[in-house]
Amino acid sequence: NTFAEIDLGDLLNQNIRRCKYVKPTPIQRHAIPIALAGRDLMACAQTGSGKTAAFCFPIISGIMREQYVQRPRVARTVYPLALILSPTRELSCQIHDEAKKFSYQTGVKVVVAYGGAPINQQLRELERGVDILVATPGRLVDLLERARLSLQMIRYLALDEADRMLDMGFEPQIRKIVEQMDMPNRGVRQTMLFSATFPREIQRLASDFLSIYIFLAV
Ligand code: AMP
Repeated sequence: NTFAEIDLGDLLNQNIRRCKYVKPTPIQRHAIPIALAGRDLMACAQTGSGKTAAFCFPIISGIMREQYVQRPRVARTVYPLALILSPTRELSCQIHDEAKKFSYQTGVKVVVAYGGAPINQQLRELERGVDILVATPGRLVDLLERARLSLQMIRYLALDEADRMLDMGFEPQIRKIVEQMDMPNRGVRQTMLFSATFPREIQRLASDFLSIYIFLAV
């Protein structure tokens, strides 16, 4: 019932202490070991449950091992290794802030992109390099259409508040985004889907995007 038992390594444990997290919340206790084992995951989790850390730590831990994988060299094109999709600007910024704290001194670079803000600044930020991209679906589709961002190397995909994204009408964008990462690395990608509710549409999303997955309700 401690973070040390979850075995995230010294550096991430230090960052956890720096965040003043003393013990894992139930979703963290159950989801992090499953995700560290490389399994796909569908978790029912409410806001305030600590779900952000539950998907961020396994992603950061995985990228710390994979940071040096060769990425293609195509002029001005960036290849993030992880994508976190969230419904709103506010939530994306919160995830970005937390992910930055969690990845302190790891060398893992986190960038956020959301709609309603100038796209050029976000493009420039992306061009400086990105390991984990946190984005709202609409803005991500815009960025992809400018062809400077490739999802070919995505190893980790997290969908946060998936039910809210569907309520907001983002399903076509989400499908378009996931299609772009499927071909070259099918079987390599690990996907985690977080949702407060589990209606039929979310079940369909899970069966379309996840490999054999573990269902978690805490
Ligand atoms: P979330 O559900 O991810 O939005 O997290 C809700 C709040 O709980 C955030 O402010 C987190 O920083 C905080 N939090 C997450 N995990 C822990 C933990 N293990 N101990 C204490 N606070 C936490």
